[in-house]
Amino acid sequence: MVPVLQLIARDVPALVFPDGADVLQVLWCPLIHSEYDQHSPVPVLRWRSVADLADRPLLDETPRPDEFDDEYVPQPCVVHPTETVEYPGWDMPAELSERVGERSEEMEKSCGISYYDAFTTRQSKVGGYPGWTQPPNWPRCSCGSRMEHLLTISASESCGRWLPVEERTRPGCGWETSDDPERQQDSHEMTMGDCGGVYVFVCRSCPTWPTAHRYDC
Ligand SMILES: [Zn+2]
Ligand SMILES: [Zn+2]
Repeated sequence: MVPVLQLIARDVPALVFPDGADVLQVLWCPLIHSEYDQHSPVPVLRWRSVADLADRPLLDETPRPDEFDDEYVPQPCVVHPTETVEYPGWDMPAELSERVGERSEEMEKSCGISYYDAFTTRQSKVGGYPGWTQPPNWPRCSCGSRMEHLLTISASESCGRWLPVEERTRPGCGWETSDDPERQQDSHEMTMGDCGGVYVFVCRSCPTWPTAHRYDC
């Protein structure tokens, strides 16, 4: 397994943690798994606590797996959680979709900003809507409920107005504000297939918070 994401509750106040937990870790085996019909790594979630982590020694180096698919091994980097309001990319009632679509076309004509830059985020995120590239495929829990979108890990990292201020240093992002060399490579650099995304879902109606995932590109 390789570490993919670690979030601490104080940095992401809108994320609901289970009782007693304040750290969320996402790991995966960096190979394409065909079980679950998703042809992607299978994300594994660990809900832990800062106190629990503080008790354990840290490794000097992240162990590299023996076997791996490069496009699913993240480079060490940090996240800069930034709160936004988004419209879904796909999951919208038809009438609203039409109205937002018209507004988006006007904006694209008048200032060249696309739907993906102005209305919906395809970047890695917690909450909001899945950053689907293909039509939605929401998982259903064994209890019968449609699962909630918990987080998206996306290959689309450095673009657009969604880019956190701290990350507006990456060359080629189109929104550069600084060329501080220390921060230019601050990205996970996973291509995840053809600019794909792994979407993690959770059912909070079930006491164990079961999860499921989807992948598309
Ligand atoms: Zn594996
Ligand atoms: Zn359930």
